[in-house]
Amino acid sequence: MTFTDIVYKRPNLEQIKKDYEQITRKFAASSNVQEQYELILEHEKLYSNFQSMSTVAYIRNSINTADPFYEGEMAFFDSNSPLMDNYVQNFYKTVFSSKYKTELEEKTGKLFFKNLEISLRSFSPAVIELKQKENALVTEYEKLLASAKIEFDGKKLNLSEIQKYQISQNRDIRKSAWEKAAGFYLENAQRLDEIYDELVKNRTEQAKKLGYKSYVSLGYDRLGRNCYGPKEIKNFRNQVASDLVPFIVKIKEEQAKRLGLPDLKLYDNDCLFPDGNPTPKGNRQLLVNDAQRMYREMHPLTGEFFDYMIHNELFDLDSKKDKAVGGYCTEIPDYKYPFIFSNFNGTAGDVKVLTHEAGHAFASYLAKDIPLLELRSPTMDAAETHSMSMELFSRKWDSLFFENEAEKFRLYQLEAALDFIPYGCLVDEFQTIMYETPALTPDERKQTWLKLEKKYRSWVNFDNMPFFSIGGGYQRQHHIYSFPLYYIDYCLAQTTALEFWIESEKDWKSAFSRYLTFVQTGGTKTYAELVKSAELEYPMNNGCMKHLCGKVAVWFQDQQKQ
Ligand code: ZN
Repeated sequence: MTFTDIVYKRPNLEQIKKDYEQITRKFAASSNVQEQYELILEHEKLYSNFQSMSTVAYIRNSINTADPFYEGEMAFFDSNSPLMDNYVQNFYKTVFSSKYKTELEEKTGKLFFKNLEISLRSFSPAVIELKQKENALVTEYEKLLASAKIEFDGKKLNLSEIQKYQISQNRDIRKSAWEKAAGFYLENAQRLDEIYDELVKNRTEQAKKLGYKSYVSLGYDRLGRNCYGPKEIKNFRNQVASDLVPFIVKIKEEQAKRLGLPDLKLYDNDCLFPDGNPTPKGNRQLLVNDAQRMYREMHPLTGEFFDYMIHNELFDLDSKKDKAVGGYCTEIPDYKYPFIFSNFNGTAGDVKVLTHEAGHAFASYLAKDIPLLELRSPTMDAAETHSMSMELFSRKWDSLFFENEAEKFRLYQLEAALDFIPYGCLVDEFQTIMYETPALTPDERKQTWLKLEKKYRSWVNFDNMPFFSIGGGYQRQHHIYSFPLYYIDYCLAQTTALEFWIESEKDWKSAFSRYLTFVQTGGTKTYAELVKSAELEYPMNNGCMKHLCGKVAVWFQDQQKQ
């Protein structure tokens, strides 16, 4: 069955409510471990069906944001998911207070209950209304961004499509593309300010109602973080600022030299080579064929996985009118289907979709038979390690996609990976400050962003560009609006992925087999435990960034010798 063949049916919330009431009652009255476990499995079925339909609606809505039917269905989920959460949370509460917790833990694993506890304290029916409002604000922001029609190069482009011009090898073109994109944000500046302000205040109110000091701790709980807190993350960011940033400053000096420029302006930062960044050779069909060949050669399991994706048509890759921006991988649990969504635009980003998003899809494929949905996927730091490591493990096949530009791509990929980490820390520290001091004005928020730009990306010169030079840059980072405090996960994951890469440079096969174990474990272990079992440096430990920079420096030296 292909994705298109899946029949969408709006979940019947009245029925679900009754079903949950019934299993919750039965569970509370049961004095039999096996029966209690089977009731957990009943919940899994209800939960999986709701998730599946909500995901199908989400995917179809993002493929065509102008289709009124799925727009209506998304509105249904925006206002009804919090009700569903309430039924699930009530059930969890009963499970958590089971007399047979120890016996149940033998079947579910200890982490299931630990995660349950975190999830329970971060929710209460008292915040349902606020959550509904929060969802609507996020949808409004996403819609606003998807509505962009920027006139450029004789075409009307969305924000994904213009990215190709923003890294053009012609400096005038890329500068003008950045200005045009900035123009869109400036036109919508007031609403963008307001939406964010409402979101920060809404989330803060939720935190207060649930008894948290600020949204920071609530946000950590909502992300299910089960092995570190804000203090450890602060330590990680400090290591990035003190050890990685100076290292990148040097890389950026080299980049400016390569480009023949005295310094890097904002619109030069992502343009790594004077003759343009490496681009994949061939159209979408060819790239997918190349990816299939790569996955078949990589490992029997990756081959089996990618064939499954193709056979069931679990992709939507081309950029189209009214399609939502960006790219993602999601899953439809009832069908055991991962799904990859993207807007191909002819840049190296297209290959990234076939390695990064496919890395997520691979993890979802491997975990599809873990009985408890809650344990299939780990926390996002580990889940992003699945995808970011896959990007680096696929370096062996770069010449398939990039042909004569493969070597250039390898340098590009590594520099981009390193450059990303401080940016991610900037996004994280910004959000942390926003939720610690929710009363800031829109202007103060922009000043904070600018100050942090200097801390983490001191080499970037805004060249007095509108929007960016006043600190508006945060408004284009959709995670800041849509997925609060979810971004540092990418930095941790990038660090762990680079650690895997260091190992793969020594012995690819052995590193890949450690990676495979990491992925196959799904969400049955915490990120800290997964990193430990893979025998890699833990990003929160002092010295991790120093270790990483040292190894990368050696690689750069070796490249120069060749
Ligand atoms: Zn990802």
